[in-house]
Amino acid sequence: MFIPTIPTPEEVLDKSFSRAKKAANKVRGSKIPRHQKSKKTEEARIKTACQVTQETFNTILEKVPKVEDLNMFYQDYIDVVVGVDQFKKSLGALKWASELIAKFENQYVFKMRRSSSENASNVRKEAFGRLASVVYRIEDELNFLDFAKQKLRNMPTIDFDATTAVIAGFPNVGKSTLLRQLTSAEPKVADYPFTTTGIQIGHIEHKWMPYQFIDTPGLLDRPVDDMNEIELNAMVALEHLADLVFFIFDASETSGFPLESQMKLYHGIKSIFNTPIQCVFNKMDLVEDTTLVDKYIEQLDNPIKLSAVEGIGVSELITKMEEFKNEKK
Ligand code: GDP
Repeated sequence: MFIPTIPTPEEVLDKSFSRAKKAANKVRGSKIPRHQKSKKTEEARIKTACQVTQETFNTILEKVPKVEDLNMFYQDYIDVVVGVDQFKKSLGALKWASELIAKFENQYVFKMRRSSSENASNVRKEAFGRLASVVYRIEDELNFLDFAKQKLRNMPTIDFDATTAVIAGFPNVGKSTLLRQLTSAEPKVADYPFTTTGIQIGHIEHKWMPYQFIDTPGLLDRPVDDMNEIELNAMVALEHLADLVFFIFDASETSGFPLESQMKLYHGIKSIFNTPIQCVFNKMDLVEDTTLVDKYIEQLDNPIKLSAVEGIGVSELITKMEEFKNEKK
């Protein structure tokens, strides 16, 4: 998500005061009766400083997308990573500061016009003092927004028009091999909370329609019972994206996970995902005696047999996606 650069209070004030100084110099150099000069100069300083600060905050507010306008996936993502409430509260604080500054800008301009020339610089100092104190009042919120900017920098870019499959299954069952087979371009890696390697997103176009595959190493590859609440939320965010989940079994058990525990993981994921799940038995090229695999296959609804390295069965997965695209419409 794009969040513009968030300045520190010092940076906000430095910019505002230095622009105010320039504005004052301009007035000082202009043709104004001498007795009015100090008041006009100080008035320009107040106006400029206040306006530049408001502009700084308003530009941030305009550029940051409204959380409630975002897709539920992004809303959940932001909530898991930084907390939506805190995020909104911080933006609210910037709005508060901007409005307050606008208000006292008028008050001080009015005060300046009624003050004596001798008192002009005192009025300006008082206005600058208030400006600084308001900007420092929202220091925590500025810090938080800067933290959010860093955290949300590499958020996954999702194509919400594409029919989307999330790939699940234990480590080493062949998920990333499959993703590479499915998509021609290198999958894009993006951050995802609680996955150390991020998530990988691959795109394809099939019969002019967009499809998207998401692999989530470290998230959909271990028992649901081991997950804490936040991890479960991170996982549920995925549900907003997925039209379908491909659950990948390693039929050969060479990944080190017996089919029995893979079945348990499948049931765990099935219990928390409302999305339809298509089972896929991978590494079929390594299976000589299919007796055991067949025992599991019988328990499931039309699983697809696959050899991701050899590319056998991959087109069936795409056909399955097509069916879901038609159901989605
Ligand atoms: P991931 O951790 O689930 O993403 O698994 P990987 O895609 O990294 O695959 C783990 C290992 O299994 C790699 O060495 C792959 O080459 C191998 N592998 C994946 N799919 C197949 C397959 O269909 N057949 C065989 N023989 N090996 C496979």
